[in-house]
Amino acid sequence: MTRIVLAGAGVAALRAAERLRELGFDGEVILVGAEPEWPYHRPALAKQLLTGTRRPGDLALASYGRLDVLWRRGTAVSAVDTGRRVLALPGGEELRYDGLIIATGAEARHLPGAPVHDPRVHVLRTVADAVSLQRTLGQDRGPVAIIGGGFTGCEIASSLRELDREVTIVSRGPVLLRDAVGAYLGRKITELHAAHGVRLALGATVRRWIPARGGMALYLSNDKVLVAGTVVVAVGSAPAVGWLRGSGLSVAGGVRCGATCHALGAADVVAAGDVAQWPNPRFDEIPRRVEHWLNAGEMGRAAAESLLAGAGARPFTPIPRFWSEQHGIRIQAAGMPSLGRDTVELLAGPSGGNRVVTGFVRDGSLIGVVGLNSPDEMLKWTAELARQRAWPPAPNVVAAHQVPGSRR
Ligand SMILES: Cc1cc2nc3c(=O)[nH]c(=O)nc-3n(C[C@H](O)[C@H](O)[C@H](O)COP(=O)(O)OP(=O)(O)OC[C@H]3O[C@@H](n4cnc5c(N)ncnc54)[C@H](O)[C@@H]3O)c2cc1C
Repeated sequence: MTRIVLAGAGVAALRAAERLRELGFDGEVILVGAEPEWPYHRPALAKQLLTGTRRPGDLALASYGRLDVLWRRGTAVSAVDTGRRVLALPGGEELRYDGLIIATGAEARHLPGAPVHDPRVHVLRTVADAVSLQRTLGQDRGPVAIIGGGFTGCEIASSLRELDREVTIVSRGPVLLRDAVGAYLGRKITELHAAHGVRLALGATVRRWIPARGGMALYLSNDKVLVAGTVVVAVGSAPAVGWLRGSGLSVAGGVRCGATCHALGAADVVAAGDVAQWPNPRFDEIPRRVEHWLNAGEMGRAAAESLLAGAGARPFTPIPRFWSEQHGIRIQAAGMPSLGRDTVELLAGPSGGNRVVTGFVRDGSLIGVVGLNSPDEMLKWTAELARQRAWPPAPNVVAAHQVPGSRR
């Protein structure tokens, strides 16, 4: 290989480029990214950027080591011909590659029926989205409605309460974050938001959007009407694979990869980060996407290794880790809590400062842990999770820490 191209220029691509150099690849490395910015710290968009403690220019990621790459920023790849090994760039330009790393991440989803072109209605995925949201928040001091009770919606609500803004979360589920952290911690986090003045419309959806001069009127399924000066739609994201349709690669639900990050059926294409779905044999054989910051960086490095290693590549088998911050509470997760069939609500705690760790169990062993304000306990239980889910499997794994009776 003399030229490796990275499609997408987020954290997965940056860490992949670094790994190529660390491994001694001395050919051309070209990063093609749709956004004009240097790769930046995306999680800060809902936190420090929204509260104003950091500005867009503060978010640029540092690079470890010598990169020596050619940057094509503000350039969206529109197609790939995997037979000819060519990417289509704007203006009819073609970019040849010997190896391709797909790291185009994800895009914010919109809600059907939402007036997406109304300047009061926002999503939050990019710096440009954040700047646009801040502009609306600055122009209209009225109430804010957040549609979606997942991590992004909850973080935005927390940041806006820090700014003393009136904010309501509208969420389909009966508690916030239940799918991600389970019912017990979901209830605790719901109470936390309520205690910090976040208004909650739970078990509700938006039936109709009526743009009016005084604000956007949201007619909810619980027969209430919410009028907001700013609306943020935070209903999750979809893999950025539109440019890959017709390429012959399997892209339904993300770029489909084998355990080594190689795109199925392609020896010279790997994928990493939010866009990739791959089976992590540490948990099971089902390909999934993992939308976590740390995973994107680690997978970028693994994908670069696999591309250079070819047939000798090793499976990528991480313990996925995630964190969030809401109302001064740090939420940490490890493993795949959503795959748990049973829960041990109190692996550790509860103790002062809302400290608690919950375990998620499947087939008698841990599959995930989630903690509130418990970094030390999380280290311990993440190590135990890694031991119980060792890859390659260790013979006769016996729990080192007593796991108390689990509850469905
Ligand atoms: C508001 C917010 C808060 C978050 N908070 C947390 C958190 O607290 N903890 C956590 O673990 N994770 C968090 N995440 C998730 C985390 O940011 C992602 O998992 C991570 O950014 C994924 O990195 P990536 O490089 O795979 O994709 P991305 O960061 O999405 O980068 C992909 C890049 O590719 C570009 N691109 C897309 N299509 C093309 C194309 N056709 N051609 C060229 N370039 C293209 C995109 O513009 C983008 O710049 C958060 C995400 C958001 C949006």
